[in-house]
Amino acid sequence: MRHFPIFLNLKDAPVLIVGGGEVAARKITLLREAGASITVIAPHLSPSLETRVSQGMDWIPRRFKTADVRNMRLVIAATDDRELNAAVATAARAANVPVNVADDAGLSTFIVPAIVDRSPLVVAISSGGAAPMLATRLRVRIEALLDESWGKLAMFADRWRINMRAALPDLAVRRRFYDWLLDGPVAAAVRAGRETEADGLIERQLVNGPKTSVGRITLVGAGPGDPGLLTMRALRALQQADVILADRLVSKEILGLARREAQIIDVGKEPGGHGANQDRINRLLVMHARRGRSVVRLKGGDPFIFGRGGEELEYLKRHGVAYEVVPGITAALACAAYAGIPLTHREHAHGLQFVTAHCRESLDRVDWRGLARPDQTLAIYMGVAELEVIRDRLIEAGLSPATPAAFVQNGTHLQQRVIVTELAALPDAAHRHAIASPAMLFVGEVAGLASRLAWFGNEPILDACRSPQVAVYGMS
Ligand code: SAH
Repeated sequence: MRHFPIFLNLKDAPVLIVGGGEVAARKITLLREAGASITVIAPHLSPSLETRVSQGMDWIPRRFKTADVRNMRLVIAATDDRELNAAVATAARAANVPVNVADDAGLSTFIVPAIVDRSPLVVAISSGGAAPMLATRLRVRIEALLDESWGKLAMFADRWRINMRAALPDLAVRRRFYDWLLDGPVAAAVRAGRETEADGLIERQLVNGPKTSVGRITLVGAGPGDPGLLTMRALRALQQADVILADRLVSKEILGLARREAQIIDVGKEPGGHGANQDRINRLLVMHARRGRSVVRLKGGDPFIFGRGGEELEYLKRHGVAYEVVPGITAALACAAYAGIPLTHREHAHGLQFVTAHCRESLDRVDWRGLARPDQTLAIYMGVAELEVIRDRLIEAGLSPATPAAFVQNGTHLQQRVIVTELAALPDAAHRHAIASPAMLFVGEVAGLASRLAWFGNEPILDACRSPQVAVYGMS
């Protein structure tokens, strides 16, 4: 960092401006907004500055002298005479007074940033003198991002700051209260210019609201592994969390994006070993929420797709704990995209079914006739252990043994593997290539397209291509 950023309190502080032109006038405008007590030294003033003198600004109509910098808090040289500017800089440095020379970072001991002023909120941008145009561009973007209401909101929060501190002494609780304040109905009322309504809302919440109810649970879908597939909301939830209960399938990279102080609890379940564990997870969720924490329940993929999200919400509902749900990209969508398998296709698939095959019991309840309809894609989760059953039942129900099928193991991770085969050969192919969990299985004509459309990671492997379809899509 070339410069250390600070915000100076210049209320009533003596500030010297050397120069009486337009550049000086611009600096003076800002300095006056900050409440500085300004003295201008210049033989002549531009017309706009002359009116300032009549409004009480000090003007000494002569050339600069070294002694002028004495007792000043800041000095700004804004003349078009480079030597004079240099002399002002030298005098200020000798007197240990911070000095800025307009458009000359080399002579300056401080530089003035580009700013976006939404007082009391101020954004200051500097390129350290390297690329002022870049700083200006950035300023324009931020201007657009922060509409005027941000200032109002900051002012409003400031007005309630002392009350909030008194009513909510616990920092974690207060932080969550701020989240509610800045994201919820209060902010909306302030933005809409309804401050009385906003005051009422916040007052009621502070006086009546049982403080522990501020704790809440966000059920977040973490996607299949690639952190780039997180949603903005998921990221924000991770960065605001006090406690995170994470599943086995959530990647380390994603947990690395959590707030550093967050307590991460691994509640990962090995396949097949659920049951008692789910009770424990439910109890943990409620316990942490009741302590007023911001709890994130982080699940692989999407929480509502084979993720027991529904059961957890029912439990929370029964126990009166507030929750939100942030959807995630489910493994079927992510694995298909990263393997080049378009799940629907005008020529090959007009529908899509999400199926789980994690145990015999679930397979017995499946409508195999419905699954065996042609012209559709099956996205099968947790199917690795039951491949023989899947193959036999689909073929019995009428699906061609030559229907293309593809495994996508570790989808979206760098270790992603794609094996393209056909329905009849599923168990053999899985065995030959040692397919292990987590893997998605796709069945349907589109599965064969992976061999042509794959773009990510290792090349797909073609196995047992007896079927003409796989050959057509795969080998051409
Ligand atoms: N809620 C999750 C699914 C949980 S079930 C979601 O929406 O994705 C777990 C199954 O998801 C795994 O057995 C596997 O079939 C699939 N899965 C999850 N992540 C995967 C990944 N990165 N690659 C391949 N399959 C994955």
